Amino acid sequence: MTATSDNPFDSGSILDGIRRWVEIETPTEAPEQVNKLADLVTQGYRDLPASVERIAGKSGCGDHLVARSSWGQNAPGILVLSHLDTVHPMGFIERLPFKIEGDTAFGPGIYDMKGGAYLAYHAFRQICADSARSPLGVTQLYVSDEEIGSPTSRALIEAEGRKAKYVLVTEPARDGGKIVTGRKGVARFEVFIRGVPSHAGTRPEDGRSAIRELGNVIQALEAMNDLTRGVTVNVGVVRGGTKPNVIAEEAYAEVDMRVPSIADSDELVPKILGLKSRTDGVSVRVTGELNRPPYEKGNAGAALYEQPITNRCTFRRSSRGRGCCIGCTRRCDERRKPRPLRSRRAVRRWRDRARAGLVLRPPQGSQATHPPGRSDRAFAAASGARYRHARAGQSPRSLR
Ligand SMILES: [Zn+2]
Repeated sequence: MTATSDNPFDSGSILDGIRRWVEIETPTEAPEQVNKLADLVTQGYRDLPASVERIAGKSGCGDHLVARSSWGQNAPGILVLSHLDTVHPMGFIERLPFKIEGDTAFGPGIYDMKGGAYLAYHAFRQICADSARSPLGVTQLYVSDEEIGSPTSRALIEAEGRKAKYVLVTEPARDGGKIVTGRKGVARFEVFIRGVPSHAGTRPEDGRSAIRELGNVIQALEAMNDLTRGVTVNVGVVRGGTKPNVIAEEAYAEVDMRVPSIADSDELVPKILGLKSRTDGVSVRVTGELNRPPYEKGNAGAALYEQPITNRCTFRRSSRGRGCCIGCTRRCDERRKPRPLRSRRAVRRWRDRARAGLVLRPPQGSQATHPPGRSDRAFAAASGARYRHARAGQSPRSLR
């Protein structure tokens, strides 16, 4: 679909832009490549009312970019989180060159997340092109190290996130275009057990088996599973011992725990860290922590979703970051549906959402302060005919 005076979005130029981003390969471990893309992204803001701050990469990672709209920066605004790095190794583009087949586009990282990141950038261009601007400032943060857990960008993300009223993340949506409004927290632990070795045949009474104690520890951990509460504890790796005829001196385990709320984490993390040996002469030491806090359902993010504006949006809000879908499918082949209508709508949704501060009161506290129906009508009245299809309670899918 080409741009018209009514609709400024042209799917061809959007796909061209995505292609330019995709064709610069950006494995996290190739900072010079990530920086090449960062150069291109920076150039893209030159003619816009925005400033770009570049934070030099460290620890072998590329640079991070913070692009701020020239307006609305004196109050909490909208933060859009994206990452420029991809999981694909350098040269993968030879195997998966950018191409469009039918209504599907292919390319390394097009799904996670260059397509979403570019759409957000393009939507920002459109906001800038219009005379009407949202009262909320827009800040777009592009980090270089998400695929390895954001070790060098976490502090920056947290700092920018704290300043923002809304945080939108341009990671791919879930199957069916579903928006994520909650995510469990993740904790990781290591268990170190030390016993007393001895010959299992001739001096069993002298030994204290670390492996046997590991059995106790595993049972204690497994007993913490509570699927009705949404708590999962998994002992995913175990090691120990040396020979069949030796009572094991050492044993080791790695544990993954997922919790839906901070309250669960506050209860269970100390329990796991405090696991004690049940065998005299055997020590149990546990290290670890909650390394990704839960993004609790029912918080302000879920309330934001209840706003009609977000009901039509393909982005998810998340503390870690996840959001865009224009019909993207599986990550394994990194393909994306470039259907013009969908693309156009996806970008327009984002732009309109960014403008939502004009007409919607943000949710207060952890719950929406008004029924969706009322805000929907108020929003539609204030923002014109293009929202006339909005209906409270419709799923994002149905509103596409
Ligand atoms: Zn991603």
